[in-house]
Amino acid sequence: MITLKSAKEIDTMSRAGDIVARTLEMLRDMVRPGLTTEDLDAEAEKFIRSHKGAKPSFKGLYGFPKTLCVSIDEEIVHGIPSPKRVLAVGSIVSIDCGVYLEGLHADSATTVAVGTISAEAQRLMDVTQQSLEAGIREALVGQHVGDIGHAVQTVAEGAGYGVVRELVGHGIGTRFHEEPQVPNYGPPKRRERLVAGMTIAIEPMITAGGPQTRTLPDKWTVVTADGSLAAHFEHTIAITPEGPRILTRAA
Ligand code: MG
Ligand code: MG
Repeated sequence: MITLKSAKEIDTMSRAGDIVARTLEMLRDMVRPGLTTEDLDAEAEKFIRSHKGAKPSFKGLYGFPKTLCVSIDEEIVHGIPSPKRVLAVGSIVSIDCGVYLEGLHADSATTVAVGTISAEAQRLMDVTQQSLEAGIREALVGQHVGDIGHAVQTVAEGAGYGVVRELVGHGIGTRFHEEPQVPNYGPPKRRERLVAGMTIAIEPMITAGGPQTRTLPDKWTVVTADGSLAAHFEHTIAITPEGPRILTRAA
């Protein structure tokens, strides 16, 4: 069942999203060679909890142990922060963050370069971000969920990249994962109709090679099956009569 949110609930999600956005901005500034993914996680948790009533959404969700998912290079999503994972020059690192505030969640991810990266890695990040923007532009009252995925897929595959199928975006609200699922692929004019008050996380996961994935023995980290680079960008948005409202952008 899709739950529609009131204007007040959307405002609360926007305040949660503001904390998410500022957490990701802080981490983006921190990222440098030699830092561990655990360092990022510790700073993120401290920053989130410094806001009255705010908690990391991910910690404890389905048993996930940390505040962030940090996924490096061929890791697509759900990397577990660790003092053993050291950021190295030339890597790209996906940082995914959720905040729970006053009963509601917000969810966003960005991919960041560690020092100087290859032109190919930069292009993958740029295209993935563009595919997210294309998806958000379709998030209009009267359109369908499938229009979002179709737009993402058109941009990503048009650039020669793979679109991950096994993982999708999602409704979000009082629960972190709600209906509907928001795939990053598929035909337009299919799936649920978008109506005002829906809140969804759109999150393209795009690979420089094939779309196939596998999960590491830690049972969390999802990597590209062919070892190619992956990028991940995400925003939580509300469907409104005035168009998509991005809730995970710093106010
Ligand atoms: Mg996320
Ligand atoms: Mg998400």
